Amino acid sequence: MIPFIDLKKQYESLKPAIDEALIKAASSVRFILGPEVQELEKVLAEYVGVRECVACANGTDALALPLLAWDVGPGEAVFCPTFTFFATAEAVALRGATPVFVDVNPVTYNIDPAGLEEKILEVKREGVLRPRAVIPVDLFGLPHDYESVARIADEHGLVVLEDAAQGFGGCYGGRRAGSLGQVGATSFFPAKPLGCYGDGGAVFTDNSDLAEIIRSSRVHGTGGRRYEHVRLGLNSRLDTLQAAVLLVKFEAFPRELEARQVVADRYERALLPAHPHIPAVPGGLRSSWAQYTVRVPETRRQRIMELMREDGVPTMIYYPKCLHLQPVFAYLGGRPGQLPAAEKASREVLSLPMHPWLEPADQDLVVRSFLEALEKSGDEAE
Ligand SMILES: *Cc1c(COP(=O)(O)O)cnc(C)c1O
Repeated sequence: MIPFIDLKKQYESLKPAIDEALIKAASSVRFILGPEVQELEKVLAEYVGVRECVACANGTDALALPLLAWDVGPGEAVFCPTFTFFATAEAVALRGATPVFVDVNPVTYNIDPAGLEEKILEVKREGVLRPRAVIPVDLFGLPHDYESVARIADEHGLVVLEDAAQGFGGCYGGRRAGSLGQVGATSFFPAKPLGCYGDGGAVFTDNSDLAEIIRSSRVHGTGGRRYEHVRLGLNSRLDTLQAAVLLVKFEAFPRELEARQVVADRYERALLPAHPHIPAVPGGLRSSWAQYTVRVPETRRQRIMELMREDGVPTMIYYPKCLHLQPVFAYLGGRPGQLPAAEKASREVLSLPMHPWLEPADQDLVVRSFLEALEKSGDEAE
């Protein structure tokens, strides 16, 4: 079986520098918020193009910390796409606020601006919840429709928290993912475009006052003095060891992004003539290619996956169940058919192996296996 994401090859490509950084961080014994963490925050803020970066324990906390700092809570509506990883809405519900799910654009898979506006107006009309924030997601690495979302958010007085867990490294015009909102959140989970060797995350913002609150919140709401607490917070620091790994990996990151683009271009050239249902990147945008996701007929998806597995090619479904249909959100009254573009996507998407070290020979195998499985499953269905 070829790997879906080849983390081993990545380690091998950077082994001497990573080993050295790990040993140095270990020898310093400054395991918590050591100098590597501050250095990482500095280089990442510069890369994203914002004033402040606050590293934290994971991408879920990177969403939770700004919501906490804004004191988002009960009685408030936070709009997010229904087609995303669970954590996007989990962070909202854990604050006691109400996630309001919005349909996605069927081509980009990102939050549909028209659907967003409709939901905001609906919430206002009902008069039960106060619209407070929107969390657009840069799904599969493609930045969301930033200009439209920002305009709608401004018009209705919402703050924008960009979920750039997958989008880190992507661009919208001249702006980097992570800077496409008042606050951006990213994840360094190993499988993300910039991954560490465990869990990690970061918050980005131009708002220094807010960053100060988040810095305090990630260490139990600490005040200026030790063991003095001025607010409730979390324990959500980034390990020095993870920061050390990330500093090395960040050096290689631009090269890796280019390599991902080469892989995506190869997929496009090989698949497009036979199967036009491949990812589209709108003009002016750059994807970080966290995933390469195609569409297949829903009745044949399972069979295609089986056939490809027999060829030693792994595939994944991101995501098989929309958030408005998740059991834990049943109390919100979500029903099948309410958000049709996202529901259709959840039945048809199929992600192919994607990482910077995917060799042409292995990629040829993926393409051949996919096209054969597509054809064979079609013949069987007749
Ligand atoms: C991975 C991911 C998260 C959560 O990140 P963790 O580091 O795993 O907590 C949030 N949102 C999206 C869209 C993700 O893909």
